[in-house]
Amino acid sequence: MKRFAVLGAIVASGLTAVGVTAQGLPGITDIEHVSGNVHKIFGAGGNTVVFERANDVVLVDTKLPGSGEAIMAEVRKITDKPIGMIINTHSHPDHTGSNNELGGDGVQVVAQVNTEARMTAGGPGGALKVDQSFSRTMTIGEGEDEIELYYFGAGHTDGDAFVYFPAADTVMAGDVYAWHMSPLIDPSAGGSILALPTTVTAAYYTIPAETWIQGHGGVSTREEFLSFVTFNRALVEQAEQTAQFGGTPEQALAALEGNPSFHVFLDHKIKPGLEYGGTPWSRALINLRVAFQELRGEEPQLIMGVPDPLQDPPPAPPPGLGGGGPGAGPNQTEHVH
Ligand SMILES: [Zn+2]
Repeated sequence: MKRFAVLGAIVASGLTAVGVTAQGLPGITDIEHVSGNVHKIFGAGGNTVVFERANDVVLVDTKLPGSGEAIMAEVRKITDKPIGMIINTHSHPDHTGSNNELGGDGVQVVAQVNTEARMTAGGPGGALKVDQSFSRTMTIGEGEDEIELYYFGAGHTDGDAFVYFPAADTVMAGDVYAWHMSPLIDPSAGGSILALPTTVTAAYYTIPAETWIQGHGGVSTREEFLSFVTFNRALVEQAEQTAQFGGTPEQALAALEGNPSFHVFLDHKIKPGLEYGGTPWSRALINLRVAFQELRGEEPQLIMGVPDPLQDPPPAPPPGLGGGGPGAGPNQTEHVH
């Protein structure tokens, strides 16, 4: 599989601890306080969430391979407690890559069952151990230490876990919610744009958190997450209506652009640090194309980027990462986000 070959090359080329990675991706930055006992570390793949419990530390996601030492250096800025648990929001290597470096004896690894299946089957970085899994929900610990895990259905993949910290009024949403824009859909890992609105709506109503940590990027309010839910629901509904009348994804996009409240999700600016280039606008167009394919029963492919007409010149992918033009398909180079 070409995709695994490319991921393998990314993984093998290694990382630098600070600044930018060898692939030109944004490197790890200083640990940031989010709320209560929850901190986050940006860069070198997805966000890593650091949750300090009474006797140890829980990490949510472990970035690209080679990030273990740099993650620990950031954790040591806030506590000397040992790592006791790693929770993975999904199986992609930019979220599980340093599990083996950080997960020694006695470190419990927890994931949703579909993610467990992918992690233990192995990818470019080899098989990863999972000690405990859940299908719909699971509670770990109590009081200040309590963590609630939820799975609401497919979206970015078919194993996207939401990790909720009730005492901190905060949830880590993983890549189903990254960069506050319509998410990358990975059909090869069971992702689905048609399923996404139901998944994120259930998350919104089930998890009362005020603070929503994105899988990549920053931190949002509950209200901002709701606006994301509303936009993705509208995107799928617009795809359905437009397809029914023989229209195109581009026509569906034009209809969405008529709604001023959607402008942040159809923006033409590249988000600082966004690994694969592209804009919210191009991601929305990609997801409309994926929606049309899913509606027609075709097998969608993972698509990294399409040129944004208002970007001049169009964004170049970072070194080591594939671009993917309008016809991007399985034979294009790809990087899983
Ligand atoms: Zn991902």
